Order: sequence, then structure tokens, then C-alpha cells
Amino acid sequence: MRIKLDRTVCDGFGACAVHAPDLFDMDDWGYPTLRGGNDIAPEDEAAARRALLDCPAHAIIDLDDRVPLLAGGEAAVARTSRPGSSAE
Ligand code: SF4
Repeated sequence: MRIKLDRTVCDGFGACAVHAPDLFDMDDWGYPTLRGGNDIAPEDEAAARRALLDCPAHAIIDLDDRVPLLAGGEAAVARTSRPGSSAE
């Protein structure tokens, strides 16, 4: 599992560090940092996923769970189609 911490949207409440203290550390300003980088060991995945799911700002992203944006592919169409749009 690979995750990304987007500190630009983080609100600094620290739930991630409570759920996964081995993965997240809090800096002097009260914002989290990733202790070991983006790659999460299998034994830490449950804690990482719990932090991700409980993050109120959606600042923790599962990089393995992203839909690839392929030009003209189904994923690109699905993400841009809206009722009444001409993309359908
Ligand atoms: S739980 Fe989310 S919003 Fe809260 S400190 Fe952690 S990354 Fe930031």
C-alpha cells in the first residue's frame, strides 16, 4: 500500500497520529508528517487505512486506489460524464 499525505488540505486535528502513531508524527505546528515515507508495510496497512478513513479533510490518499486517467478510456469518460453532457 502506498499513501500520500496532502498537507495543503490537512486541518491538523491529528486523528491520523492517534490511529497510526507509528506512521504519522506531528510537527511543531501541529501538522502531521509521514514517518517512513509513502510505502506502507503490510503489517501497518490496517492502521494506515483507519487513519485514511477517519481523516476529516481527506488529506490521506491511497495511491494504489486511484483510477487511471487514460485519454479516451472508460475511466476518463466515467469521471467527466454528467447527465445531459455531450461526453456520453
Ligand atoms: S487526520 Fe487528516 S486532517 Fe487530521 S491531522 Fe491527520 S491528515 Fe490532517
